[in-house]
Amino acid sequence: MKAPKTGEMLHLRGNALGKGDPVALPLTQSSMFHLPGTPDGHDFYGRVNNPTWEHLEHILSHLEDAPCLSFPSGMAAVSAALFATVKAGSRILIPSDGYYVTRLLADRFLSNLGVSVVERPTTGFADGGFDGFDVVFVESPSNPGLDMIDLAATAQDVRAAGGITIADNTTMTPLGQRPLDLGIDVVVSSDTKAMGGHSDLLMGHVASRDAKIIARVEEWRRISGAIPGPHEAWLLHRGLETLDIRFDRMCSSAQVIAERLSAHPMVKTIRYPGLPGDPSHSLAQAQTARFGFLLTLTLGDEAAAEQFINACSLLRPATSFGGVHSSAERRARWGDDVDPAFIRLSVGCEPVEELWQAIEASLNAL
Ligand SMILES: *Cc1c(COP(=O)(O)O)cnc(C)c1O
Repeated sequence: MKAPKTGEMLHLRGNALGKGDPVALPLTQSSMFHLPGTPDGHDFYGRVNNPTWEHLEHILSHLEDAPCLSFPSGMAAVSAALFATVKAGSRILIPSDGYYVTRLLADRFLSNLGVSVVERPTTGFADGGFDGFDVVFVESPSNPGLDMIDLAATAQDVRAAGGITIADNTTMTPLGQRPLDLGIDVVVSSDTKAMGGHSDLLMGHVASRDAKIIARVEEWRRISGAIPGPHEAWLLHRGLETLDIRFDRMCSSAQVIAERLSAHPMVKTIRYPGLPGDPSHSLAQAQTARFGFLLTLTLGDEAAAEQFINACSLLRPATSFGGVHSSAERRARWGDDVDPAFIRLSVGCEPVEELWQAIEASLNAL
């Protein structure tokens, strides 16, 4: 993939500054704007525009190499992308093993509005073809299973069948994978995770190079009122300034931890796309720039999994992922269709040797 230039990103704002302007992004906390006469071309009301989001979106657009719109959460971004692209009578295809709230949105709201929803597992997603689907929603790697699909082939096949593709790229970030470069029509992301990176905000974004789609997503945001708060936008902007360094550390540590876990006798199964034997490995090599910071493992039983997580001094027992603090949880506690001892582990920014020692000590104590 063509890698986003993060050094250039850090200076996007600085190179446009006038003498005496603040170097750090100002936080504009205002619903009203001073607007005598004709409002044309100016920010006019806080539901429609805000200079802090606009600058955040400038940075996001640089990362995605596409127009971007920010949202108050990942689900607000997923909702915007779907409500902007479906109508009564549409048929959509979504992964049965992806982020479960996306399935809830389809099941609890879109179906009621006359959208027919079909689910398929990420592995074998193309089986049955894409004929008759207006929107195909993909997640690669899937959360939490870490299965991947060929995004370029999927985008091409769906387009040939007359539909559009939406990819949830939360687990990779634009530094790990840019689905739009592979032909996907729309990217959605929960920026609550690695993009923000400090577990202190919820945000999301939608990116697309299709001007009609992005205009419709903007209309959805303006009319539905699903707008980000300026303070969250400011925090996300601040987080993005260190995305490169955090993501790099997290991915390289994840590789080390995954290799060592796969050799540990207490670990029954492990998934990490960077392991040569992993079912996602060859696809990951072909379509991602990094293997990511998420890995999954299964221990002997539920009690062992709980004890391992809760006794490890450098793992926060918490849901969500992508923060500077490593975290882990048993996904079966939320009803995911996985082994009771299946753990999703998000590798954070701790020094890798310290992190491994803490993980190994907790495993050895089982
Ligand atoms: C967390 C997550 C979301 C939803 O994001 P929120 O910010 O919690 O609304 C969507 N997709 C994936 C893959 C996620 O991990």
